[in-house]
Amino acid sequence: MTTINAKAYAAQSPTSSLAATTIRRRVPTETDVQIEILFCGVCHSDLHFARNEWGFTQYPAVPGHEIVGRVTAIGGGVKKFKLGDTVGVGCLVDSCRTCPDCRAGLEQFCSDMTMTYGSTDKHLNAPTLGGYAQSIVVTEDFVLRMPANLDLAAAAPLLCAGITTYSPLRHWKVGSGQKVGIVGLGGLGHMGVKFARAFGAHVVLFTTSPGKVADGKRLGAHEVIVSTDAAQMAAQANTFDFILDAVSATHDINAYLNLLKRDGNLTLVGAPEKPLSVAAFPLIFRRRSFSGSLIGGLPETQEMLDFCGKHNITCDIEMIRMDEINTAYERMLKSDVKYRFVIDMASLKS
Ligand code: NAP
Ligand code: ZN
Ligand code: ZN
Repeated sequence: MTTINAKAYAAQSPTSSLAATTIRRRVPTETDVQIEILFCGVCHSDLHFARNEWGFTQYPAVPGHEIVGRVTAIGGGVKKFKLGDTVGVGCLVDSCRTCPDCRAGLEQFCSDMTMTYGSTDKHLNAPTLGGYAQSIVVTEDFVLRMPANLDLAAAAPLLCAGITTYSPLRHWKVGSGQKVGIVGLGGLGHMGVKFARAFGAHVVLFTTSPGKVADGKRLGAHEVIVSTDAAQMAAQANTFDFILDAVSATHDINAYLNLLKRDGNLTLVGAPEKPLSVAAFPLIFRRRSFSGSLIGGLPETQEMLDFCGKHNITCDIEMIRMDEINTAYERMLKSDVKYRFVIDMASLKS
């Protein structure tokens, strides 16, 4: 298969910093869209992946799955996009298209889905490489339309942080009359707060960072609880309909299960490296449930983007240059990100 070279940033091992490299992208086939990447968000999953914290990373590893850019070439059979369109690519670049999950528009659960990074590229028979790069080529069915009214850089993190919080809040029918908790004010958490508020819920943010209380309220939380304060936590017991946990590290999940009402649900989207320990009593008392959620399928991702366009919802971002990525990772590990780093990909060219 013919390929073209693209500049990118890659990790060469679990312990090496990310550095400049050159990768191969396929020349667009009949149904492909070639995208010049303008901005790419920095998800905590990128860090887990670059450092092989989940155990399946192949090197060189190019992270990045909050991709926005401009269409620079299309295959002859492409129907939905034309040259110059502004488009997005999230965590998925392909799936089998025929299984029950794919037919239901839940491609994220397809056992043959291709992730933007961390999968095998069916065309090149090599690991897929993500969005810390100049360009990407994706089959048109996995390319999203970006709402024209949104700032493109601030919309980039919608492609993962946005859909990962939107989807479980919709699935569990979060809305007015409900008390909803969001745990962790990082990239995912800050979008969880914005969506839960937009859906009409009473929103309570839980943070370990006292310095984020004012921001939590500005972003839409009605109440902000500093989770290290036992008295503040105790006062919230048995009052929540739903809690979304977006914490990137191991923490005490039982403390949050205890805050649910009868039949309340806690959904985990955070993906810590090590297992969480779940005690029986917080679950069996009050018939509470504990579940998980993975990004969202293509139809729901487009629905989320359109919802954000309609309601003018974007992410609070800090723009960085590509060569600042290693510092950004260190700051993310210290919970010092307000509230998503986005790489200006023009900095990769210079
Ligand atoms: P992030 O921006 O780094 O935010 C994580 C937040 O968690 C921090 O800002 C901090 O918030 C809190 N936190 C960090 N360490 C903590 C600790 N030891 N104890 C308690 N709280 C802690 O990360 P992100 O990009 O939002 O991603 C969050 C997690 O979701 C990651 O594990 C990521 O891999 C995962 N993820 C999952 C999916 C999915 O489909 N399920 C999709 C994307 C990402 P406070 O300062 O407010 O406490
Ligand atoms: Zn992500
Ligand atoms: Zn499938």
